[in-house]
Amino acid sequence: MATQAKKKRAAKSGPTPMMTQYLALKETVPDCLLFYRMGDFFELFFDDAKAAAATLDIALTARGEHDGAPIPMCGVPAHSHEAYLARLIKAGHRVAIADQTETPEQAKKRAGSKALVERAVVRVVTAGTLTEETLLDARAENWLVAIAVTGGTLGIAAADISTGRFALSAADPAMLDAELARLGAAELIAPEGFVAAPSHAQLCAKGDFSSIAAEKRLKQLFGVATLDGFGDFDRAELAAAGGLLAYLETAGQGALPFLQPPARHRSDDHMLIDAATRESLELTEAVGGGRKGSLLGCIDQTVTGAGARLLAADIAAPLTDIPAIGARLDLVQLFADDAGLRETLRGQLKALPDIGRALGRLVAGRGTPRDLGLMRDGLGAARTLNISLAKRADPPALLAALLPKLTGHGALTDHLARALVPEPPIDTSKGGFIAEGYDAALDDLRETAGAGRRAIAALEARYREATGIATLKVKHNNVLGYHIEVPTRHADPLMNAESGFTHRQTLAGVVRFNAPDLHEEAQRVTQAGAHALAAEAAHLEELTETVLVDRDRIAATADALARLDVASALAEQAAVSGWVRPTLADHPCFEVEAGRHPVVERAVEQQGERFVANDCGLSPEERLWLVTGPNMGGKSTFLRQNALIAVLAQAGSYVPAASAELGIVDKLFSRVGASDNLARGRSTFMVEMVETAAILSQATANSLVILDEVGRGTSTYDGLAIAWAVVEAVHDVNQCRCLFATHYHELTRLAERLDALSLHHVRAREWKGDLVLLHELADGPADRSYGLAVAKLAGLPKETVARARSVLAKLEAGRAATGGLAAGLDDLPLFTADIAQEEESSDPLRDALEAIHADDLTPRDALELVYRLKRLADEGDGA
Ligand code: ATP
Repeated sequence: MATQAKKKRAAKSGPTPMMTQYLALKETVPDCLLFYRMGDFFELFFDDAKAAAATLDIALTARGEHDGAPIPMCGVPAHSHEAYLARLIKAGHRVAIADQTETPEQAKKRAGSKALVERAVVRVVTAGTLTEETLLDARAENWLVAIAVTGGTLGIAAADISTGRFALSAADPAMLDAELARLGAAELIAPEGFVAAPSHAQLCAKGDFSSIAAEKRLKQLFGVATLDGFGDFDRAELAAAGGLLAYLETAGQGALPFLQPPARHRSDDHMLIDAATRESLELTEAVGGGRKGSLLGCIDQTVTGAGARLLAADIAAPLTDIPAIGARLDLVQLFADDAGLRETLRGQLKALPDIGRALGRLVAGRGTPRDLGLMRDGLGAARTLNISLAKRADPPALLAALLPKLTGHGALTDHLARALVPEPPIDTSKGGFIAEGYDAALDDLRETAGAGRRAIAALEARYREATGIATLKVKHNNVLGYHIEVPTRHADPLMNAESGFTHRQTLAGVVRFNAPDLHEEAQRVTQAGAHALAAEAAHLEELTETVLVDRDRIAATADALARLDVASALAEQAAVSGWVRPTLADHPCFEVEAGRHPVVERAVEQQGERFVANDCGLSPEERLWLVTGPNMGGKSTFLRQNALIAVLAQAGSYVPAASAELGIVDKLFSRVGASDNLARGRSTFMVEMVETAAILSQATANSLVILDEVGRGTSTYDGLAIAWAVVEAVHDVNQCRCLFATHYHELTRLAERLDALSLHHVRAREWKGDLVLLHELADGPADRSYGLAVAKLAGLPKETVARARSVLAKLEAGRAATGGLAAGLDDLPLFTADIAQEEESSDPLRDALEAIHADDLTPRDALELVYRLKRLADEGDGA
């Protein structure tokens, strides 16, 4: 009865003051899970609690009631909340942190003993706005991307606030997917009403994407009268930047994180690679997800997080400017040719802290003494690096441009070296990070506190002597401060007021006291300690400010170090794997001698086998290679290795080949027929056709197109017809360099009609009835498809292979006789009968002979038939 009455009262009187505060905060961040600080925990309520409990697999409890129903609740400890945050963000949630903005004592002072502590949302944490070391992948960039379309142009603004990288670019709206795929955004935002926005985009108020307001904001942010110095930005780019800044401002609750002045990317600065091509070539991510098994995973020899991030960016956006590529290659060559230099540099780089990310945290106001220490060490190491590298006479241009960026921080590093202890902690609460001798007043305070602590130790000895209690101790805790503690059995004499001790607390086994002289010393220690802490906090702030004054130059140093890491890592890869420097040309050639696929090569070698290198030569006279040959013969590998060689070369890397002369590729396309893409909700064949359509509409004479079994996903005739038409279009209309792998032997006839098409095949041999795949490319078409031989190799049951052989014989005979593919199937015996017959005769030659209607044959058919019969006879011999 009583509880019911209580319930009724609660329902009537509405939510508690705390719940009212919670609900008001939650209303400001409706799309976030709200972490509400209560003491040592962050609590979540209502649906937030349910979602978090499910994701984090923690207990869902209840607290109080709201509208007559219990309030679901769960919580995470404040001191370890980052780990939980990481999991929630990874699962796609956004989290708002509501922290206490005053202490309980302050609240009491403000509004009496029942006062509710003030709380405010201090930060919104989303996948694209992270700076914490623990929440970020050290080796991957973390882009927040905003998109907007203005005047028919797509504007893209991208920021990695963990390092301050900020880039704007404009592109054709049709390139949206390709551009997003290049960036691999952690988080994407778009204005409301943006129809083409991908489903995972977060839609924000349209008003935020104003190019006029954005221009003003950017000028103000970078303290310039005009943005011209950064690039000639278009309205769409500014609009996107506006959306990005507004979003960052909301996430930081008004404070903007670190942004370097915007760099302008032009879409023709880099090789255009659309999302499907990236996926199919597994450039930075393998098909199953993750870096392992991708090109990047295979070649990444970088030794710093910043280097790894830059290499990923380079591979994701290969350049198109020959001098720029040449500059990168010159630097790689310097380190490739000089193993000693490379080794020393890599050794030095390995020890480097990630100053780019430390700077990001300092700017975001989340810097710790440790970050200052990283800055000191990193900038100091950069200076040392500069000294050893600057000794080279005649450095390559890129090195000459990088070296000055490594220096100029002497005053700052000296200052930090004087100010900080050797290993500054992350936690500031205990102080102790400012070095002795840096601040005389701080030293005095520490001395006072130290003297006090020594005096307290002396008091302990004195009390023991005076009381005769050897187990008496002077202790300290947060509630009582310094106090005297004795075991209960010794406590009685001290209870007496004349003892000079004042009783404070009785516990199970001990009794605690205070004494006037202890109190005095304790005050000295606490006061001096508190003042010392405050002094250190002030130094932290002021040192952070000092670092921030130089932030643009520090960011440039971080970038220069990353470039050195990438160049020496690529040199290492080249040296270890025997790669060569490619030559880039401005005409559409593609001459690769003994090219290899780096990822497949590694896999093959791990199985103790040898990878077979193959040449490729595309030129205006022979720009379309039609590659046939058995399944598993190595067609796909050959096609992809050439695409990867183009990517590596234009990213400024050596390539896996004996030599390579490559004409700049403006757009790269790679399509695999009927690849599964159920995730995108389209049938495989539909995807294949949509993607093929994109190639035919976009590829230029400077593009490189890889088509692997296009037309496979539908009926034989339809597929053949489509493949035929696509080859013609690529040849006649796009006129791009193209490698086309197919099982449709019929396509080889196109060689007669298309001048620039040449025929090639991967070699195989049948030996004693077994298929031997040579993985070697040769001129001309394959003599046949070997499909059944591969099926046998794969372990298809003997009966099924025999049956298939019989069906094939009929089909081919039928086709030879009537020109109709399925004609021969009409009189096909039943499967079981066929097996019986197979067992009896197992003679495909006889079958074929029997199926001939001699009167219907043209002379040409007859000749083909003779060839086929001859082949069947050979095959029979081999089996
Ligand atoms: P399918 O027509 O069935 O798609 P394919 O001709 O495209 O087959 P790939 O997928 O390229 O064949 O290669 C099959 C396997 O053969 C590879 O996984 C690899 O193990 C091996 N292989 C391919 N190329 C080579 C090579 N050049 N040297 C050695 N092994 C190779």
